[in-house]
Order: sequence, then C-alpha cells, then structure tokens
Amino acid sequence: MDVSFTPEQEQFRRRAQEFLRDVLPPGWGTPAHPLPSTQEERERVGLWWEKELGRHGFAGLSWPKEYGGQGLSWVEEIIFAQECAKVRAPSGVNGLGKGLLAPTLLVEGTEEQKRRFLPPMVRGEEIWCQGYSEPNSGSDLASLRTRAVLEGDEWVITGQKIWTSNAHLADWCFVLARTDPDAPKHRGISFLLVPMRQPGVRVQPLRQITGEAHFNVVTFEGARTARENIVGAVNDGWRVANTILSFERGTFVVGAYANVHREMAQLLALARELPAPTGGTVAEDAYYRQKLMTAWSEIEILRFLGYHVITQLQKRDKLGPEASMMKLYWSEMHQRFGELAMDVLGGRMPFREGLDAVADGSFQGTFLWSRAETIFSGTSQIQRNIIAERVLGLPRDARQ
Ligand SMILES: Cc1cc2nc3c(=O)[nH]c(=O)nc-3n(C[C@H](O)[C@H](O)[C@H](O)COP(=O)(O)OP(=O)(O)OC[C@H]3O[C@@H](n4cnc5c(N)ncnc54)[C@H](O)[C@@H]3O)c2cc1C
Repeated sequence: MDVSFTPEQEQFRRRAQEFLRDVLPPGWGTPAHPLPSTQEERERVGLWWEKELGRHGFAGLSWPKEYGGQGLSWVEEIIFAQECAKVRAPSGVNGLGKGLLAPTLLVEGTEEQKRRFLPPMVRGEEIWCQGYSEPNSGSDLASLRTRAVLEGDEWVITGQKIWTSNAHLADWCFVLARTDPDAPKHRGISFLLVPMRQPGVRVQPLRQITGEAHFNVVTFEGARTARENIVGAVNDGWRVANTILSFERGTFVVGAYANVHREMAQLLALARELPAPTGGTVAEDAYYRQKLMTAWSEIEILRFLGYHVITQLQKRDKLGPEASMMKLYWSEMHQRFGELAMDVLGGRMPFREGLDAVADGSFQGTFLWSRAETIFSGTSQIQRNIIAERVLGLPRDARQ
C-alpha cells in the first residue's frame, strides 16, 4: 500500500504554503506577532480567516465546483490542514458548518439546499452552530424534547439546547427537533436548518472556568424556519444526525493529527533543552525517552487511522464505525499526550495571564482542553458502545 502523496498533491501543498505565507501577517505565531490570546481577538481573527479562505480558493476544497467548492478531494483537505497546523494558522469559526453540515448536505441535502447554503459558507458569510444536546439529553440524544410543529409553510420550534458552541456568532443552527412525540424515540425526530437572528431565538453564554464563553444555552421560543429547511424526510432526522456525527468523529478529527504532530515536534525540542530531575536533559533521561517514544508511535498510528478513514470516505461518501474508532483513539491519546507534556514541563511554564492558553498552543492549554475532547461529539464510553455493537457484534447497550 502506497500512502505517499502524488506530484499533483505535492504541488497543491506548495500552493497552500504560498497562500499561508502571503496572507498571514509577517511573524505570525512568533513574539513579533503573537497568536490572538483572548476569545474576542480569536473570534475576530477567525471571522477574518473564514473570508480569506473563501477569497483565495481554500474553502470547500473537496466540494463540487457548482456549489462554490474547489472540486478537489479529501486528500487536499488533509494536506491543507497539515500546512495550516505547521504555521499555526487561525482555526476559523465555521468548522461546524464547513466540516460537519456541508459534507452532510452534499450527501443528504436537496439540490436547492446545496445551492442555497454551501456558497455562503465558502465565502465565510454564514456561520453555523449545532443544536443537538439538551439539558437532559446528551449521550442519550434521542430522548431530546425540543419540539417542531408545522404551521402553514413554517416549522415552529420550541425548546432548549445546551453547550451550543459558537451560537453567539452563528447565523444559522442545525437543530434536532421532535416532530412526532408518539413515535419511538429515534423515529420521531427531524433535522431542521433554523436562522438564529430572529426574535424567537435567545442565546445565553455559559461562562467557563477560564472566564471565557465558547458555548451557550440556546432557547427556541416559537422560532420559525421555512418548511423546506428540513434535511431528509420528516421524522427521518436521526439518520441525518448520525451522518453528521460520523463526519464530526471521523474527518474532522483527521485534521487534528496535523496539530498533534506539530505539538510533538515542539515537545521534543523542549525535551532536548530542559534539564531532567536526574541530571542531563529530559531527552537523555531513560524514563522520559520511553514516554516520548510511546507518544510518537501513538501519533503515527493516528496518522494511519486517518488515512484509513479518508480511504473509506472516498469509496462510500459516508463513514461507519471507523469514525468512532478515530474519535476514541485521538481523544484518548491526546489526553495522554497532554499529561506527558505537563510531566516534561513540570512547574517550569506557569499558566499564561488571561488564562485561555489553548490558542497560543501552550501545553497547559492542550492539557486542559484535551479533557473536553473525550466528551464532545459523543463521549469515549459512547464510542466504545458503538464499536462494541457495530464491529464486535456485541448486544446493544440496554440504555440506548
Ligand atoms: C467543548 C464542548 C463543546 C460542545 N459543543 C456542542 C455543540 O456545539 N452542540 C451540541 O449539541 N453539543 C455540544 N457539546 C455537548 C456534548 O455533545 C455532550 O456533552 C456529550 O454528548 C455528553 O453529554 P452530557 O454532557 O449530557 O453527558 P451525559 O450524557 O450525562 O454523560 C455523563 C457520563 O455518563 C456516561 N454515559 C452516559 N450514557 C452512557 C452509556 N449508555 N454507557 C456508558 N456510559 C454512559 C458518559 O460517557 C459520561 O461519562 C459540547 C461539549 C463540549 C465538552
């Protein structure tokens, strides 16, 4: 099996490198031009970045050209993610739209939906959020209680969503709502596209321990959306919801490899410099060498798992339980990596003032943020249940 890139793909890589060099301010990510360190700054830069990607033809790389994409493949998406990670390019604010909803619309959406919703995502003009979780429905998502009722030509939505990332920036939300309360819980759900900027939608920030508020409570109080803004058939939303989740757990995470790879290179550089408690450098210390090499091997396994996911996707346009394996493996190995980084650094790098150190790439941020990675898009326990049932053929989890 040959997993190297073709000459054309390497040429695309050089084009991506040139774009990043030209568009990012000189000294980006260095003391001359530090990365944005507050939520406000990061969001401002993220919104700018979405527009730059669109303007220069680096958004929607794998989408068909008729919907504003570049007509390339998932391989170019990965190459671009790798190059962005190397220079610590801004992360953007529309991952939920471009990374989750867009590939789902390409598979499940109507022609009108693709033409209406994909081009503004490419141009960075419409930002999306994900309205799945509710105060009493997280892992058991199918128990959700938000209701949608058809009134004339509009769906009227009532209910509450929680942990809604980026809702405060979003123009639209993809919402799971119950449209048949009498049907078995997985069957009475529909998948709706709901405009956020209307009187029936209230967004309240959920303040985190860092003082920032990345996610929100979203309350729908008679919010409205057009009848045609439903993806899939009425009461068939659970299937569509799972298509999204497979992209969230599979392809979205494939890009994460590039970031872990950069973090590992940074950690190795530090290990060569930092003194070990037993004398010499961390890199010379037998205990740390074992740990660093284990981390490196795990990152390589992640790379090949990612290639496996992309291969499956190119064959079928959709992902199966390999998405859960990818998410489970990445999130748990990244937690171990964060713990190792703390171990290597010891007390030598105090947490940055202003707290949110995630965006500047410091290891304290990685360590803290990685605690969330085994929770969002389905916890590790839920991924294990899926793999147990769908790969090993074990009996279904009685609670689902
Ligand atoms: C950073 C972050 C961003 C998020 N962004 C969004 C977003 O934009 N939109 C959105 O809709 N949601 C979002 N979420 C919410 C996320 O999807 C939920 O937190 C997640 O699905 C878990 O649900 P819960 O928090 O209600 O935990 P619970 O479901 O209450 O789970 C609690 C614990 O019980 C375990 N458990 C539950 N059921 C089972 C079972 N059957 N078998 C074994 N163990 C079980 C879980 O693994 C977990 O350890 C986000 C979460 C985080 C952390």
